[in-house]
Amino acid sequence: MKKLFLALCVALGFAAAPAGAADYPTRPITLIVPFAAGGPTDIIARIAGEYMSQSLGQQIVVENIAGAGGTTGITRGSQAKNDGYTIMMGHMGTHGAAKALYPKLKYDPNKDFAPIGLVAGTPILVVARKTIKANTLKDFVALLKSRQDKMNEAHAGVGSVSFTTCSLFNGIVGVKPTRVTYRGTGPVINDMLAGKVDYACDQIVNLVPQVKAGNLKAFAIATPKRSPALPDLPTTTEAGMPEFQVSAWNALFAPKGTSKEIVTKLNQALDKALSTEGARKRILDLGGVIPEGGDRSPEYLGTFVASEVARWNKVLKK
Ligand code: ASP
Repeated sequence: MKKLFLALCVALGFAAAPAGAADYPTRPITLIVPFAAGGPTDIIARIAGEYMSQSLGQQIVVENIAGAGGTTGITRGSQAKNDGYTIMMGHMGTHGAAKALYPKLKYDPNKDFAPIGLVAGTPILVVARKTIKANTLKDFVALLKSRQDKMNEAHAGVGSVSFTTCSLFNGIVGVKPTRVTYRGTGPVINDMLAGKVDYACDQIVNLVPQVKAGNLKAFAIATPKRSPALPDLPTTTEAGMPEFQVSAWNALFAPKGTSKEIVTKLNQALDKALSTEGARKRILDLGGVIPEGGDRSPEYLGTFVASEVARWNKVLKK
């Protein structure tokens, strides 16, 4: 009897394992985007999702859960079942700056996730509505200083990339404009195109087509080098503000406790996506920076998140 029971357990154990990991995925995967549709996190998620689903053989369905600078969606994702069917697209805000800005954050970026991999680096641009009366960063700073009580800066909520990076920018300029909160920088840019908001600091992948078409004014890119996607745009150093150096990123995470086999499958699908010409072209054309080699591993992302949390804690406490 005992023998039979043991044999049964072993058989059930074996039967359970393939359903959990070896056959994964057997149904669509939900990818939480913690901001409104149409913004940078959404754009990167949809490109990665499309190409990853090709090698996984299952659809990746984007679900936009916006609010509180991205922390609402990431809280939801961190509490989801860790079976590989719910993953999320985090970024420098949700998995870096938010920890310093939300004392009661319901997740720990360092402990509550199984990192999957970095998807793209996204340099930050200072952009304004096209009717603003300035054409260079110097002119814009002068205008901002003289009219700060009448200027609106738009961002995606406390802790978001746009909020954090424009906090640094405003601090360097020494201005306190009216700060308007949105559910993502997709809607920020829509309102900027309509002339309803004056300026923002945003991730490049949201901006290149509109800047090229002259529908938005870009003043500088906050990286040491110019972007091949916008070769005429000066760096902040060239434009006279070398102190403003900041770059963001987007990365995929699963809830903590997701099995190593599943994380490996997702990471391999991401790695393949980032090596596919179609996906590469789309990311590069938008000015995104594609991680290469070891920078694509889950281990690298884990270490990188820890360094980002520490870095932003220092910067923001200042
Ligand atoms: N780029 C945004 C941020 O400021 C959010 C978004 O992706 O819509 O964090």
